[in-house]
Amino acid sequence: MALDQETLDQLLDTVDKFVEKRLRPLESQVGADDSIPDDVIEDMKALGLFGLTIPEEYGGLGLNMSEEVAVARVFGHTSPAFRSVFGTNVGIGSQSLIIDGTAEQKQRYLHKMATGEVIGSFCLTEPEAGSDAASVRSTAKKEGDTYIINGTKRFITNAPKADLFTVFARTDPAREGSRGVSAFLVEASTPGIDLGKPYRKMGQQGTYVCDVMFDDVVVPQHNLIGGKENVGFRTAMKVLDKGRLHISAISIGCAERLIADSLKYATERKQFGQPIAEFQLIQAMLADSQTDTYAALCMVTDTAKRRDAGENVAALAASCKLFATEMVGRVADRAVQIHGGAGYVEDYGVERFYRDVRLFRIYEGTSQIQQTVIARDMIRNASN
Ligand SMILES: Cc1cc2nc3c(=O)[nH]c(=O)nc-3n(C[C@H](O)[C@H](O)[C@H](O)COP(=O)(O)OP(=O)(O)OC[C@H]3O[C@@H](n4cnc5c(N)ncnc54)[C@H](O)[C@@H]3O)c2cc1C
Repeated sequence: MALDQETLDQLLDTVDKFVEKRLRPLESQVGADDSIPDDVIEDMKALGLFGLTIPEEYGGLGLNMSEEVAVARVFGHTSPAFRSVFGTNVGIGSQSLIIDGTAEQKQRYLHKMATGEVIGSFCLTEPEAGSDAASVRSTAKKEGDTYIINGTKRFITNAPKADLFTVFARTDPAREGSRGVSAFLVEASTPGIDLGKPYRKMGQQGTYVCDVMFDDVVVPQHNLIGGKENVGFRTAMKVLDKGRLHISAISIGCAERLIADSLKYATERKQFGQPIAEFQLIQAMLADSQTDTYAALCMVTDTAKRRDAGENVAALAASCKLFATEMVGRVADRAVQIHGGAGYVEDYGVERFYRDVRLFRIYEGTSQIQQTVIARDMIRNASN
Protein backbone atom coordinates (compact mmCIF):
# COMPACT_ATOMS: atom_id res chain seq x y z
CA MET A 1 0.00 0.00 0.00
CA ALA A 2 1.35 3.41 -0.87
CA LEU A 3 -0.77 5.00 1.88
CA ASP A 4 -1.44 3.83 5.41
CA GLN A 5 -5.07 2.91 6.10
CA GLU A 6 -5.82 6.05 8.12
CA THR A 7 -4.55 8.36 5.34
CA LEU A 8 -6.50 6.41 2.72
CA ASP A 9 -9.68 6.62 4.82
CA GLN A 10 -9.17 10.38 5.20
CA LEU A 11 -8.69 10.75 1.44
CA LEU A 12 -11.84 8.73 0.69
CA ASP A 13 -13.80 10.77 3.22
CA THR A 14 -12.58 14.05 1.70
CA VAL A 15 -13.45 12.90 -1.83
CA ASP A 16 -16.84 11.65 -0.66
CA LYS A 17 -17.67 15.03 0.91
CA PHE A 18 -16.43 16.90 -2.18
CA VAL A 19 -18.60 14.72 -4.43
CA GLU A 20 -21.67 15.06 -2.20
CA LYS A 21 -21.49 18.74 -1.30
CA ARG A 22 -19.62 20.42 -4.15
CA LEU A 23 -20.27 18.36 -7.29
CA ARG A 24 -23.69 16.75 -6.99
CA PRO A 25 -25.54 20.09 -6.71
CA LEU A 26 -23.92 21.13 -10.03
CA GLU A 27 -24.81 18.02 -12.05
CA SER A 28 -27.77 19.39 -13.97
CA GLN A 29 -26.03 22.75 -14.59
CA VAL A 30 -22.99 20.97 -16.05
CA GLY A 31 -25.26 18.76 -18.15
CA ALA A 32 -27.05 21.83 -19.55
CA ASP A 33 -23.99 24.08 -20.02
CA ASP A 34 -21.67 21.33 -21.32
CA SER A 35 -18.94 22.90 -19.22
CA ILE A 36 -17.36 22.49 -15.78
CA PRO A 37 -17.01 25.78 -13.84
CA ASP A 38 -13.41 27.00 -13.48
CA ASP A 39 -13.68 27.31 -9.69
CA VAL A 40 -14.55 23.60 -9.47
CA ILE A 41 -11.41 22.78 -11.45
CA GLU A 42 -9.37 24.96 -9.07
CA ASP A 43 -10.87 23.07 -6.10
CA MET A 44 -9.89 19.78 -7.75
CA LYS A 45 -6.33 21.04 -8.10
CA ALA A 46 -6.25 22.11 -4.45
CA LEU A 47 -7.42 18.64 -3.40
CA GLY A 48 -4.56 17.04 -5.34
CA LEU A 49 -6.89 15.09 -7.64
CA PHE A 50 -4.75 15.61 -10.75
CA GLY A 51 -1.86 13.83 -9.05
CA LEU A 52 -3.66 10.85 -7.51
CA THR A 53 -1.56 8.24 -9.30
CA ILE A 54 1.55 10.27 -10.04
CA PRO A 55 4.46 9.03 -7.89
CA GLU A 56 5.15 10.98 -4.71
CA GLU A 57 8.65 11.95 -5.87
CA TYR A 58 6.96 14.02 -8.62
CA GLY A 59 4.48 15.64 -6.26
CA GLY A 60 1.57 13.22 -6.62
CA LEU A 61 -0.09 10.91 -4.12
CA GLY A 62 1.25 7.76 -5.79
CA LEU A 63 -1.88 5.69 -5.22
CA ASN A 64 -1.57 2.01 -6.02
CA MET A 65 -4.27 0.25 -8.05
CA SER A 66 -6.40 -0.79 -5.05
CA GLU A 67 -6.36 2.76 -3.73
CA GLU A 68 -7.05 4.25 -7.16
CA VAL A 69 -10.13 2.08 -7.72
CA ALA A 70 -11.40 2.97 -4.24
CA VAL A 71 -11.22 6.71 -5.10
CA ALA A 72 -12.64 6.16 -8.60
CA ARG A 73 -15.61 4.31 -7.13
CA VAL A 74 -16.48 7.32 -4.94
CA PHE A 75 -16.15 9.62 -7.97
CA GLY A 76 -18.69 7.40 -9.74
CA HIS A 77 -21.32 8.71 -7.33
CA THR A 78 -21.61 11.87 -9.42
CA SER A 79 -21.71 12.73 -13.15
CA PRO A 80 -18.73 11.08 -14.89
CA ALA A 81 -17.87 14.40 -16.58
CA PHE A 82 -16.37 15.67 -13.31
CA ARG A 83 -13.90 12.79 -13.15
CA SER A 84 -12.91 13.44 -16.72
CA VAL A 85 -11.42 16.84 -15.79
CA PHE A 86 -8.50 15.13 -14.03
CA GLY A 87 -9.11 11.61 -15.37
CA THR A 88 -6.58 11.79 -18.18
CA ASN A 89 -3.85 13.09 -15.83
CA VAL A 90 -4.55 10.21 -13.47
CA GLY A 91 -4.91 7.65 -16.26
CA ILE A 92 -4.28 7.45 -19.98
CA GLY A 93 -2.70 10.92 -20.29
CA SER A 94 0.14 10.28 -17.82
CA GLN A 95 0.59 6.54 -17.53
CA SER A 96 2.69 5.97 -20.67
CA LEU A 97 5.20 8.38 -19.19
CA ILE A 98 4.95 6.90 -15.68
CA ILE A 99 5.20 3.28 -16.85
CA ASP A 100 7.77 3.55 -19.63
CA GLY A 101 9.23 7.09 -19.63
CA THR A 102 12.87 7.89 -18.90
CA ALA A 103 13.83 9.57 -15.60
CA GLU A 104 14.52 12.81 -17.48
CA GLN A 105 11.10 12.73 -19.22
CA LYS A 106 9.34 12.13 -15.92
CA GLN A 107 11.27 14.93 -14.27
CA ARG A 108 10.31 17.32 -17.07
CA TYR A 109 6.53 16.77 -17.05
CA LEU A 110 5.17 14.87 -14.05
CA HIS A 111 5.45 17.62 -11.43
CA LYS A 112 3.26 19.89 -13.52
CA MET A 113 0.81 17.09 -14.33
CA ALA A 114 0.45 16.31 -10.61
CA THR A 115 -0.70 19.88 -9.89
CA GLY A 116 -2.95 20.12 -12.93
CA GLU A 117 -0.81 22.86 -14.46
CA VAL A 118 -0.24 20.52 -17.42
CA ILE A 119 -3.17 18.48 -18.79
CA GLY A 120 -2.29 15.26 -20.58
CA SER A 121 -4.22 13.52 -23.37
CA PHE A 122 -3.79 10.09 -24.96
CA CYS A 123 -3.78 10.00 -28.78
CA LEU A 124 -4.14 6.45 -30.03
CA THR A 125 -7.41 6.21 -31.98
CA GLU A 126 -7.47 7.32 -35.64
CA PRO A 127 -10.20 7.53 -38.29
CA GLU A 128 -9.13 4.13 -39.66
CA ALA A 129 -7.71 2.65 -36.45
CA GLY A 130 -10.28 2.21 -33.67
CA SER A 131 -10.59 -1.27 -32.19
CA ASP A 132 -7.74 -2.28 -34.48
CA ALA A 133 -5.46 0.17 -32.70
CA ALA A 134 -2.30 -1.56 -33.90
CA SER A 135 -3.04 -0.37 -37.43
CA VAL A 136 -2.24 3.30 -36.71
CA ARG A 137 -1.30 5.21 -39.84
CA SER A 138 0.17 8.33 -38.26
CA THR A 139 3.87 8.44 -39.01
CA ALA A 140 6.94 9.67 -37.13
CA LYS A 141 9.88 10.03 -39.51
CA LYS A 142 13.35 10.39 -38.03
CA GLU A 143 15.24 13.48 -39.26
CA GLY A 144 18.50 14.20 -37.47
CA ASP A 145 17.76 14.46 -33.77
CA THR A 146 14.02 15.02 -34.34
CA TYR A 147 10.93 13.13 -35.50
CA ILE A 148 8.40 14.61 -37.92
CA ILE A 149 4.86 13.52 -36.99
CA ASN A 150 1.97 13.46 -39.47
CA GLY A 151 -1.52 12.06 -39.04
CA THR A 152 -4.97 12.50 -37.51
CA LYS A 153 -6.09 11.27 -34.10
CA ARG A 154 -9.83 10.82 -33.47
CA PHE A 155 -12.08 11.30 -30.41
CA ILE A 156 -9.35 12.49 -28.03
CA THR A 157 -10.59 13.20 -24.50
CA ASN A 158 -9.47 16.52 -23.02
CA ALA A 159 -7.65 17.45 -26.25
CA PRO A 160 -9.25 20.95 -26.27
CA LYS A 161 -7.62 21.59 -22.86
CA ALA A 162 -4.45 19.54 -23.26
CA ASP A 163 -0.89 20.80 -22.89
CA LEU A 164 0.80 17.46 -23.52
CA PHE A 165 -0.23 14.71 -25.91
CA THR A 166 1.00 11.12 -25.76
CA VAL A 167 0.99 10.28 -29.47
CA PHE A 168 1.30 6.81 -30.98
CA ALA A 169 2.80 6.90 -34.47
CA ARG A 170 4.51 4.49 -36.85
CA THR A 171 8.29 4.84 -36.85
CA ASP A 172 8.83 1.82 -39.04
CA PRO A 173 6.48 1.84 -42.05
CA ALA A 174 7.96 -1.48 -43.22
CA ARG A 175 6.53 -3.22 -40.15
CA GLU A 176 2.78 -3.69 -40.16
CA GLY A 177 0.69 -4.00 -37.00
CA SER A 178 1.84 -3.26 -33.50
CA ARG A 179 5.59 -3.69 -33.99
CA GLY A 180 6.38 -0.48 -35.87
CA VAL A 181 4.56 1.87 -33.46
CA SER A 182 6.33 4.26 -31.07
CA ALA A 183 5.04 6.58 -28.33
CA PHE A 184 5.93 10.28 -28.18
CA LEU A 185 5.39 13.17 -25.80
CA VAL A 186 4.20 16.08 -27.91
CA GLU A 187 3.65 19.52 -26.41
CA ALA A 188 0.34 20.98 -27.58
CA SER A 189 1.97 24.33 -28.39
CA THR A 190 4.19 22.74 -31.07
CA PRO A 191 3.59 24.29 -34.53
CA GLY A 192 1.60 22.09 -36.93
CA ILE A 193 -0.99 20.85 -34.42
CA ASP A 194 -4.64 21.64 -35.14
CA LEU A 195 -7.73 20.73 -33.15
CA GLY A 196 -11.09 19.74 -34.62
CA LYS A 197 -14.38 21.13 -33.33
CA PRO A 198 -15.39 19.59 -29.98
CA TYR A 199 -17.80 16.69 -30.62
CA ARG A 200 -21.42 16.94 -29.50
CA LYS A 201 -21.98 13.69 -27.66
CA MET A 202 -24.82 11.45 -26.45
CA GLY A 203 -23.78 12.00 -22.83
CA GLN A 204 -21.02 13.12 -20.47
CA GLN A 205 -21.63 16.81 -21.25
CA GLY A 206 -18.80 18.80 -19.70
CA THR A 207 -16.21 16.34 -21.04
CA TYR A 208 -14.29 17.73 -23.98
CA VAL A 209 -13.44 15.50 -26.94
CA CYS A 210 -12.10 16.44 -30.37
CA ASP A 211 -9.82 15.27 -33.17
CA VAL A 212 -6.15 16.29 -33.24
CA MET A 213 -4.34 16.84 -36.55
CA PHE A 214 -0.55 16.66 -36.83
CA ASP A 215 0.97 18.29 -39.91
CA ASP A 216 4.78 18.06 -40.07
CA VAL A 217 5.03 18.45 -36.30
CA VAL A 218 8.69 18.47 -35.23
CA VAL A 219 9.31 16.59 -31.98
CA PRO A 220 12.76 16.35 -30.35
CA GLN A 221 14.22 12.86 -30.20
CA HIS A 222 14.36 13.08 -26.40
CA ASN A 223 10.53 13.02 -26.37
CA LEU A 224 10.40 9.45 -27.69
CA ILE A 225 8.95 7.67 -24.62
CA GLY A 226 11.58 5.50 -22.96
CA GLY A 227 14.03 6.44 -25.73
CA LYS A 228 13.06 3.26 -27.61
CA GLU A 229 11.44 2.96 -31.04
CA ASN A 230 8.79 0.40 -32.01
CA VAL A 231 7.68 -0.55 -28.49
CA GLY A 232 4.92 2.08 -28.21
CA PHE A 233 2.04 -0.29 -28.74
CA ARG A 234 3.12 -2.37 -25.76
CA THR A 235 3.17 0.84 -23.71
CA ALA A 236 -0.38 1.66 -24.88
CA MET A 237 -1.64 -1.77 -23.86
CA LYS A 238 -0.10 -1.48 -20.37
CA VAL A 239 -1.81 1.90 -19.97
CA LEU A 240 -5.15 0.47 -21.09
CA ASP A 241 -4.98 -2.50 -18.68
CA LYS A 242 -4.79 -0.02 -15.85
CA GLY A 243 -7.41 2.29 -17.38
CA ARG A 244 -9.84 -0.60 -17.72
CA LEU A 245 -9.80 -1.16 -13.97
CA HIS A 246 -10.33 2.54 -13.37
CA ILE A 247 -13.36 2.63 -15.73
CA SER A 248 -14.71 -0.51 -14.03
CA ALA A 249 -14.51 1.21 -10.63
CA ILE A 250 -16.27 4.32 -11.95
CA SER A 251 -18.99 2.04 -13.36
CA ILE A 252 -19.47 0.51 -9.91
CA GLY A 253 -19.78 3.98 -8.36
CA CYS A 254 -22.36 5.04 -10.96
CA ALA A 255 -24.33 1.83 -10.34
CA GLU A 256 -24.32 2.53 -6.57
CA ARG A 257 -25.62 6.03 -7.19
CA LEU A 258 -28.37 4.78 -9.51
CA ILE A 259 -29.40 2.11 -6.99
CA ALA A 260 -29.54 4.68 -4.16
CA ASP A 261 -31.69 7.02 -6.28
CA SER A 262 -33.95 4.13 -7.35
CA LEU A 263 -34.40 2.88 -3.80
CA LYS A 264 -35.27 6.36 -2.56
CA TYR A 265 -37.78 6.87 -5.36
CA ALA A 266 -39.30 3.41 -4.89
CA THR A 267 -39.93 3.97 -1.19
CA GLU A 268 -41.46 7.43 -1.76
CA ARG A 269 -43.53 6.88 -4.88
CA LYS A 270 -46.94 5.38 -4.19
CA GLN A 271 -49.20 3.50 -6.60
CA PHE A 272 -52.18 1.28 -5.85
CA GLY A 273 -52.09 2.74 -2.33
CA GLN A 274 -48.59 1.64 -1.41
CA PRO A 275 -44.94 2.48 -2.10
CA ILE A 276 -43.84 0.88 -5.36
CA ALA A 277 -40.92 -0.66 -3.36
CA GLU A 278 -43.51 -3.06 -1.92
CA PHE A 279 -44.11 -4.61 -5.35
CA GLN A 280 -42.02 -7.70 -5.86
CA LEU A 281 -41.41 -6.87 -9.53
CA ILE A 282 -39.75 -3.61 -8.44
CA GLN A 283 -37.86 -5.48 -5.72
CA ALA A 284 -36.53 -7.89 -8.35
CA MET A 285 -35.02 -5.00 -10.30
CA LEU A 286 -33.45 -3.53 -7.15
CA ALA A 287 -32.07 -6.90 -6.10
CA ASP A 288 -30.65 -7.65 -9.55
CA SER A 289 -28.91 -4.27 -9.63
CA GLN A 290 -27.48 -4.76 -6.15
CA THR A 291 -26.21 -8.26 -7.02
CA ASP A 292 -24.72 -7.07 -10.32
CA THR A 293 -22.88 -4.25 -8.54
CA TYR A 294 -21.55 -6.49 -5.79
CA ALA A 295 -20.21 -8.96 -8.35
CA ALA A 296 -18.38 -6.19 -10.20
CA LEU A 297 -16.98 -4.84 -6.94
CA CYS A 298 -15.58 -8.25 -5.99
CA MET A 299 -13.98 -8.63 -9.43
CA VAL A 300 -12.37 -5.20 -9.44
CA THR A 301 -11.15 -5.42 -5.83
CA ASP A 302 -9.53 -8.79 -6.52
CA THR A 303 -7.93 -7.77 -9.82
CA ALA A 304 -6.56 -4.52 -8.39
CA LYS A 305 -5.01 -6.46 -5.49
CA ARG A 306 -3.42 -8.93 -7.90
CA ARG A 307 -2.02 -6.11 -10.02
CA ASP A 308 -0.53 -4.50 -6.92
CA ALA A 309 1.10 -7.84 -6.15
CA GLY A 310 2.79 -7.77 -9.56
CA GLU A 311 0.58 -10.25 -11.42
CA ASN A 312 -0.14 -9.80 -15.12
CA VAL A 313 -3.84 -8.94 -15.02
CA ALA A 314 -4.49 -8.12 -18.70
CA ALA A 315 -7.24 -10.73 -19.12
CA LEU A 316 -8.72 -10.11 -15.67
CA ALA A 317 -8.82 -6.35 -16.30
CA ALA A 318 -10.64 -7.07 -19.57
CA SER A 319 -13.12 -9.29 -17.66
CA CYS A 320 -13.67 -6.49 -15.14
CA LYS A 321 -14.28 -3.90 -17.84
CA LEU A 322 -16.59 -6.18 -19.80
CA PHE A 323 -18.67 -7.08 -16.76
CA ALA A 324 -18.68 -3.75 -14.91
CA THR A 325 -19.51 -1.55 -17.91
CA GLU A 326 -22.24 -3.87 -19.21
CA MET A 327 -23.48 -4.15 -15.62
CA VAL A 328 -23.88 -0.39 -15.17
CA GLY A 329 -25.79 -0.30 -18.46
CA ARG A 330 -28.27 -2.82 -17.04
CA VAL A 331 -28.48 -0.94 -13.73
CA ALA A 332 -29.12 2.38 -15.50
CA ASP A 333 -31.82 0.78 -17.62
CA ARG A 334 -33.54 -0.63 -14.51
CA ALA A 335 -33.20 2.75 -12.77
CA VAL A 336 -35.12 4.41 -15.61
CA GLN A 337 -37.77 1.67 -15.39
CA ILE A 338 -38.15 1.99 -11.60
CA HIS A 339 -38.61 5.76 -11.99
CA GLY A 340 -41.24 5.26 -14.72
CA GLY A 341 -41.96 8.54 -16.54
CA ALA A 342 -39.75 10.39 -14.04
CA GLY A 343 -36.84 8.29 -15.29
CA TYR A 344 -37.34 9.48 -18.84
CA VAL A 345 -37.51 13.23 -18.18
CA GLU A 346 -34.59 15.47 -17.27
CA ASP A 347 -35.63 16.52 -13.77
CA TYR A 348 -34.48 13.42 -11.85
CA GLY A 349 -31.09 13.05 -13.59
CA VAL A 350 -31.57 9.33 -14.17
CA GLU A 351 -31.83 9.71 -17.94
CA ARG A 352 -28.57 11.71 -17.87
CA PHE A 353 -26.73 8.88 -16.11
CA TYR A 354 -28.29 6.41 -18.57
CA ARG A 355 -26.68 8.37 -21.42
CA ASP A 356 -23.43 9.04 -19.54
CA VAL A 357 -22.63 5.42 -18.72
CA ARG A 358 -23.17 4.23 -22.29
CA LEU A 359 -19.69 5.42 -23.19
CA PHE A 360 -18.02 3.02 -20.74
CA ARG A 361 -18.82 0.07 -23.03
CA ILE A 362 -17.13 1.79 -25.97
CA TYR A 363 -13.91 3.57 -25.03
CA GLU A 364 -10.66 2.06 -23.76
CA GLY A 365 -11.70 -1.04 -25.74
CA THR A 366 -15.29 -1.97 -26.63
CA SER A 367 -17.04 -4.88 -24.91
CA GLN A 368 -16.34 -7.00 -28.00
CA ILE A 369 -12.62 -6.24 -27.78
CA GLN A 370 -12.63 -7.22 -24.08
CA GLN A 371 -14.27 -10.49 -25.09
CA THR A 372 -11.57 -11.17 -27.68
CA VAL A 373 -8.80 -10.36 -25.14
CA ILE A 374 -10.33 -12.79 -22.61
CA ALA A 375 -10.94 -15.57 -25.14
CA ARG A 376 -7.44 -15.26 -26.67
CA ASP A 377 -5.95 -15.58 -23.19
CA MET A 378 -8.07 -18.69 -22.55
CA ILE A 379 -6.97 -20.28 -25.82
CA ARG A 380 -3.31 -19.40 -25.19
CA ASN A 381 -3.43 -20.95 -21.72
CA ALA A 382 -5.19 -24.06 -23.03
CA SER A 383 -2.48 -24.68 -25.60
CA ASN A 384 0.41 -24.29 -23.11
C1 LIG B 1 -16.23 10.15 -26.07
C2 LIG B 1 -15.05 9.36 -26.53
C3 LIG B 1 -13.81 9.60 -25.96
C4 LIG B 1 -12.68 8.90 -26.40
N1 LIG B 1 -11.45 9.20 -25.90
C5 LIG B 1 -10.33 8.66 -26.46
C6 LIG B 1 -9.03 9.11 -26.09
O1 LIG B 1 -8.86 9.95 -25.21
N2 LIG B 1 -7.96 8.59 -26.75
C7 LIG B 1 -8.09 7.66 -27.73
O2 LIG B 1 -7.06 7.24 -28.29
N3 LIG B 1 -9.31 7.21 -28.11
C8 LIG B 1 -10.43 7.70 -27.51
N4 LIG B 1 -11.68 7.28 -27.90
C9 LIG B 1 -11.80 6.28 -28.96
C10 LIG B 1 -12.34 4.94 -28.48
O3 LIG B 1 -11.36 4.26 -27.73
C11 LIG B 1 -12.81 4.17 -29.73
O4 LIG B 1 -13.98 4.81 -30.19
C12 LIG B 1 -13.07 2.71 -29.45
O5 LIG B 1 -11.87 2.02 -29.17
C13 LIG B 1 -13.76 2.00 -30.62
O6 LIG B 1 -13.19 2.31 -31.84
P1 LIG B 1 -14.11 2.83 -33.05
O7 LIG B 1 -14.95 3.95 -32.54
O8 LIG B 1 -13.25 3.09 -34.23
O9 LIG B 1 -15.08 1.62 -33.36
P2 LIG B 1 -14.79 0.37 -34.30
O10 LIG B 1 -13.47 -0.22 -33.97
O11 LIG B 1 -15.03 0.76 -35.72
O12 LIG B 1 -15.91 -0.62 -33.82
C14 LIG B 1 -17.26 -0.61 -34.32
C15 LIG B 1 -17.94 -1.88 -33.81
O13 LIG B 1 -17.24 -3.05 -34.33
C16 LIG B 1 -16.86 -3.88 -33.24
N5 LIG B 1 -15.61 -4.57 -33.55
C17 LIG B 1 -14.45 -4.04 -34.03
N6 LIG B 1 -13.51 -4.98 -34.13
C18 LIG B 1 -14.08 -6.14 -33.72
C19 LIG B 1 -13.62 -7.48 -33.58
N7 LIG B 1 -12.36 -7.83 -33.86
N8 LIG B 1 -14.50 -8.42 -33.13
C20 LIG B 1 -15.76 -8.08 -32.81
N9 LIG B 1 -16.25 -6.85 -32.92
C21 LIG B 1 -15.41 -5.88 -33.36
C22 LIG B 1 -16.73 -2.95 -32.05
O14 LIG B 1 -16.82 -3.66 -30.81
C23 LIG B 1 -17.90 -2.01 -32.27
O15 LIG B 1 -19.07 -2.62 -31.82
C24 LIG B 1 -12.83 7.92 -27.41
C25 LIG B 1 -14.09 7.66 -27.97
C26 LIG B 1 -15.19 8.37 -27.54
C27 LIG B 1 -16.52 8.09 -28.19
